[in-house]
Amino acid sequence: MQPTSFSSLGLIETILRALRARGYAAPTPIQQQAIPYLLAGKDLLGIAQTGTGKTAAFALPVLQQLAGAAERPRPRTPHALVLAPTRELAIQIHDDFRDYGAGLGLGQTVILGGVSQRPQVAALSRCIDIVVATPGRLLDLLEQGHVRLSRITHFILDEADRMLDMGFIHDVKKIIRKLPERRHSLLFSATMPSDVASLAGEILHRPERVEVTPAATTVDKVRQYVYFVNSEDKPALLRELLDDPALSRVLVFARTKHRANRVAQKITAAGVTADAIHGNKSQNARQGALERFRRGRSRVLVATDIAARGLDVDGISHVINFELPHEPESYVHRIGRTARAGASGCALSFCALDEVPQLRAIEKLTRVELEMVRDQPFHVSPPAPQRKRPPQSARTHGAGYRGRNAAARSGGRRRRRATAA
Ligand code: AMP
Repeated sequence: MQPTSFSSLGLIETILRALRARGYAAPTPIQQQAIPYLLAGKDLLGIAQTGTGKTAAFALPVLQQLAGAAERPRPRTPHALVLAPTRELAIQIHDDFRDYGAGLGLGQTVILGGVSQRPQVAALSRCIDIVVATPGRLLDLLEQGHVRLSRITHFILDEADRMLDMGFIHDVKKIIRKLPERRHSLLFSATMPSDVASLAGEILHRPERVEVTPAATTVDKVRQYVYFVNSEDKPALLRELLDDPALSRVLVFARTKHRANRVAQKITAAGVTADAIHGNKSQNARQGALERFRRGRSRVLVATDIAARGLDVDGISHVINFELPHEPESYVHRIGRTARAGASGCALSFCALDEVPQLRAIEKLTRVELEMVRDQPFHVSPPAPQRKRPPQSARTHGAGYRGRNAAARSGGRRRRRATAA
């Protein structure tokens, strides 16, 4: 595809100005492909991970069409609805709409659970064009009559695969039944399992399909390593790795909320600034932790999969999988948090011997064999199969993580400490 500019996609000057203010020089591939279809009024099936610029791909044409619409919204009857699986993602989409739509004079609000509904009800009573919502709270407000969907012209279901993974299918279907038949619909998903494909079949009318990376293909620019380590040594390995300042902004994934808290406490005790983010925390606590991480006040954010979904923080240097996810697709989502918008990044996975089946499932899905880091103080030998291919480093390494390897530099000292412990 020819390189192109935003102006050649048919976007209006007010939006082009907002994009310049955000510092975007050119559209990303998903934007290049999707925007012309959407401006032409087509339904769209978008297969793209976060980090590809998919939010702007749907937000820009929707904003442009709403700005040009003859009819203004009435109180409680928005014209565009975006459904997102998590509160964090909904807030980010809302923020993006606000930035991209600066100067268009459209009203918008975000509807999510975990916070008081009163300000949301007040916002809906004004003339709101765009509502970004998580399904549960939106249904509550629909049932209480605070919002009607009968005049929706644009419906966007974002991260549909995660929406289904999180068990929102019934809520989503209930919401869809309240939408008018004639509408413009978009569905975005990082992967396309059969349940998402069948939902797309129900929602979309003769959609165009755009796909920026094959489903479940790992982000190319992420260098990926595996550390074989016993479970009980994982906290010490994490502390060891964090001795290296190259791990400047680190997102650590833990499998449970409890474990996320414990890992954050342990690294805080070791003198590293860290926060945990998970579903048991209040929305304000989650936003606070995210903000500290975004501003660089905490170096490490420990998250569960669900809490981290859609998390959009630039410059994450490393994603660390403290535990491997049960679903290999989650690995793809996790490592997509680094290497965003063209940057490169690094993903380090801690694999205990009982997690080897999960590792193999990830390698099968992504068709990438993770490079094993042997030169680390807690290494345990993995079972067969033996690795046959040359390591990924031979193919993709620049001056990356390997250049440093903490284990290589200080392995003797660490090994003694580990043995003494
Ligand atoms: P998304 O996939 O929508 O979560 O976007 C990922 C990141 O890319 C966000 O930080 C966006 O602000 C950024 N982004 C989106 N479009 C562009 C663009 N055309 N040029 C540079 N950055 C972009």
